[in-house]
Amino acid sequence: MKSWVGNHPTFSRRRFLQGTAVASASAAGYYLLTPHGPRSDAKASVLVAGGGAAGISITSRLRRALPNARITIVDPATEHYYQPGFTLIACGEFAPADVVRPQSSLIPQGVRWVQDAVTALDPDRKRLETSRNGTLSYDFLVLCPGLQMNFSAIEGLRREDLGRGNVHCIYDFAGAHKCWGAIQRLAETGGRAYFTDTWTKHKCGGAPKKINMLAEDYCRRAGVRDRVDIQLFTAADHIYDVPAFARRLEQIYAERKIPVTMEHRVKKVDVAARRVTFEDRRATSPVMVTYEFDFLHIVPPMSAPDFVKASPISVNPATGQHEDWVPADPATLRHPRYADVYVAGDVAGIPTSKTAAAVRMQAPVLAANLTATIDGRTPPARYDGYTACPFTTEYGKVLMAEFGYDKKPAPTIPFLDPAHEHRTGWILKRYVLKPMYFELMLRGLV
Ligand SMILES: Cc1cc2nc3c(=O)[nH]c(=O)nc-3n(C[C@H](O)[C@H](O)[C@H](O)COP(=O)(O)OP(=O)(O)OC[C@H]3O[C@@H](n4cnc5c(N)ncnc54)[C@H](O)[C@@H]3O)c2cc1C
Repeated sequence: MKSWVGNHPTFSRRRFLQGTAVASASAAGYYLLTPHGPRSDAKASVLVAGGGAAGISITSRLRRALPNARITIVDPATEHYYQPGFTLIACGEFAPADVVRPQSSLIPQGVRWVQDAVTALDPDRKRLETSRNGTLSYDFLVLCPGLQMNFSAIEGLRREDLGRGNVHCIYDFAGAHKCWGAIQRLAETGGRAYFTDTWTKHKCGGAPKKINMLAEDYCRRAGVRDRVDIQLFTAADHIYDVPAFARRLEQIYAERKIPVTMEHRVKKVDVAARRVTFEDRRATSPVMVTYEFDFLHIVPPMSAPDFVKASPISVNPATGQHEDWVPADPATLRHPRYADVYVAGDVAGIPTSKTAAAVRMQAPVLAANLTATIDGRTPPARYDGYTACPFTTEYGKVLMAEFGYDKKPAPTIPFLDPAHEHRTGWILKRYVLKPMYFELMLRGLV
């Protein structure tokens, strides 16, 4: 392993302590600024479908706000992953074990856990079907089962094939670790390394670029940059949809001589032959183009899980069609037609980026609004669309993209230029956010 990985000789101790102080102050600030919300003695039955970032943090808050309610989490997972850490596994900063905790250790006290998968949702009859535990009914539902990655929507690709043919994806836990091995080999062999994304909304929209920039930095520091043809192909017609951060990303890609090709959708991967076929949509009539690669990073199309898409909950009344995401009021997070359903996390069809940072700000809003709803009051809290995407532009630096529905920068740390990458952001991402996630956010404390 190269010496700059997990060990940054360019960091002075003073800088590290400064960064840690700022980061800790912001964490404390988060706590003080977070609304702690109303309480109710009502005896409702609340079902939380999904126990990921959203499910656990919301349940922790509901447990305190609704001491007499019967709260149940339904989730089949034995393990809980800190997914923002997958990028740091893929660049050698985290070991896989760093991001995993047993799900049983995170379920809040006094909450019933049905370890099972929801297979169907009938919001008209207020019930869920599960794989092994039959029907579960509820008075109020919190819908937060995350999203589904549709690898098979790319011809020739299966999730279990990740790593074969040097095709990688850091959105998969094992895939992130394989990707790290491949980046190290790339720096030894050189070759054509293509990074791609997808045309649907995807969680942490910045992640494909983060691993792209880190891989380029790794090769540059290894002194082999001139032997690696690194390129980004994006399905979008822009590099990022928030202008203040897109400007700096465009500069970084130009400075680092990483060509960016827009409006290219990955449609097919021939794993054995190492060929990727894109639909090039820049012309009026799209054309298919095929390139050979030595390393490929792909992102599968994403949508709400199948049981959600099949349910009336995802129907858009205007069109009568099932949508890919669940409609929710962007401010209150309440379902527009089912008043006893609240929606949070990646599954929500709200116009913000799908991140754990967004979930952190949705959780107090949802808990306050659901508590009020159970008491028969108007939901009092409003979510402003806050989300954050820490772009790891290189080892030791992060461009901290924080913004809301208005797509204007909303920096948490004062006195730092939000439109430029800095070390403090790296310290937050590398050292602070993971413990904050497990110890504070999932406990409903920030
Ligand atoms: C590579 C990568 C990098 C990322 N980087 C960042 C970052 O830097 N910053 C950031 O803030 N966010 C980042 N994210 C995004 C972040 O992890 C997600 O947005 C967040 O986890 C969403 O929370 P959630 O609860 O909606 O979904 P999840 O945390 O995915 O949880 C969904 C839960 O639902 C459960 N579930 C699924 N299907 C069912 C079912 N049928 N029945 C019951 N339960 C079910 C699952 O088992 C899981 O526990 C990243 C994600 C990835 C993959």
